[in-house]
Amino acid sequence: MSVGTAATDSLPARALRVIPGGVNSGQRRIPGLTDLIVTGTSGATFTDAEGRVYTDYHSAFGPPLLGHNDPDVQRAVAEAATRLDLTGVAVTEGEVTLAETLVDLVPSVEKVLLTSTGSEATFHALRVARAVTGRRLIVKFQGCYHGWHDAVSLNVISSPEAVGAPDPISTGILPEVLAATLVLPFNDPAAVRAAFAEHGADIAAVILEPIPHNVGCLLPDAEFLTTLREQCTAHGSVLVFDEVITGFRHDLGGYQKIAGITPDLTTFGKAIANGAPVGALGGRADLMEQFSTRPGAPAFFAGTYNGHPWVVAAALETLRKLREQPVHEHVFRLGERVRTGLAEMYTRLGVPAVVTGYGSVFVTYFMAGGEPRSYDDLLANDANLFIGYRRRLLEHGVFELPLNLKRSHISYAHTDADVDHLIAATELAVQDAI
Ligand code: PLP
Repeated sequence: MSVGTAATDSLPARALRVIPGGVNSGQRRIPGLTDLIVTGTSGATFTDAEGRVYTDYHSAFGPPLLGHNDPDVQRAVAEAATRLDLTGVAVTEGEVTLAETLVDLVPSVEKVLLTSTGSEATFHALRVARAVTGRRLIVKFQGCYHGWHDAVSLNVISSPEAVGAPDPISTGILPEVLAATLVLPFNDPAAVRAAFAEHGADIAAVILEPIPHNVGCLLPDAEFLTTLREQCTAHGSVLVFDEVITGFRHDLGGYQKIAGITPDLTTFGKAIANGAPVGALGGRADLMEQFSTRPGAPAFFAGTYNGHPWVVAAALETLRKLREQPVHEHVFRLGERVRTGLAEMYTRLGVPAVVTGYGSVFVTYFMAGGEPRSYDDLLANDANLFIGYRRRLLEHGVFELPLNLKRSHISYAHTDADVDHLIAATELAVQDAI
């Protein structure tokens, strides 16, 4: 079929004609912003088709920790691209060096396999857990997101009525697949113990975001994480930390290093390669050896683009910079400044708000009370104000994703002046949105 395009057609109009909904990810369909076409990125900013520049705190859901278009990462990718293309044969030196780097950096990681996305990494973590244990059930937590595949496509951002029951984010998932995932409240050790008491012999894996950043920020209690480790060990279940957001962004050793908990498997993505499509799965050697990359092993593992030399070069250069430059020091300091500044501002305005986050991640929930502990607490957030002030921030040249419960990110390219502007602009935007 031929698709006619008039010279006057806008890009969104052309997109709608040939791309369902006009976007390539359901998460990019942002009500009211379908006309925002980004034509350039640089450091802490992006530029739209009208030439307006925005300081970017959305950061594509988190990958560019060094900032957009990092020149060293770009150079490394360009150099790799002139030297080596994808061959689909054996292994390349970059893949080995990247695996060695991850083993070196992350306490629980003994062996590594590369994927292109975080979803593939979590998919394979759960597959190998089932392969090794011969068990059926997966445990996940309300509010955590682990990608688009069936076993975990439920109970992320649920309406109040849907909490406590299976709440799929898609149709087309077999009921028996949904029934094989138990959903528990985050930070509830008693619920974890009860689930293991009832189903322990049938639980293949427990998967969690150690900080559920897909609903902003829920900080884990030490007792909750310890209970997960103890129960998984006692019942022979596989503990999977999904560090696709927290890995490398919060610490080179992942959040597991900060929390002092050793999961059996860990998944990575996003900040590992500053925006290049790289995911990774790592963990205990005896589990990782069950993938079919080893002859005769049972858990099938493949992927045409796994370990592509160009994106591996991006990951190696990103990790080199994260190791050698004070990236974490910078983004943690700015994160603290943002949280303190915003909290003071909301107190001064008398707006009920909980400003929270971790390191470079920040979020404000518009509700009374203290630090939220579980998804249930977030149901009190005023979604209209949450989205409303972010829409008004656009007028001040600041971009925080105007979708409910979404977190914001600071990169190495953000400056103190950016933070000053963010706080001043947020004050105006919130006053306007109230
Ligand atoms: N796990 C977490 C914690 C995520 O936030 C995401 C994506 O947002 C994924 C897994 C899936 O990663 P990808 O979108 O690269 O498939």
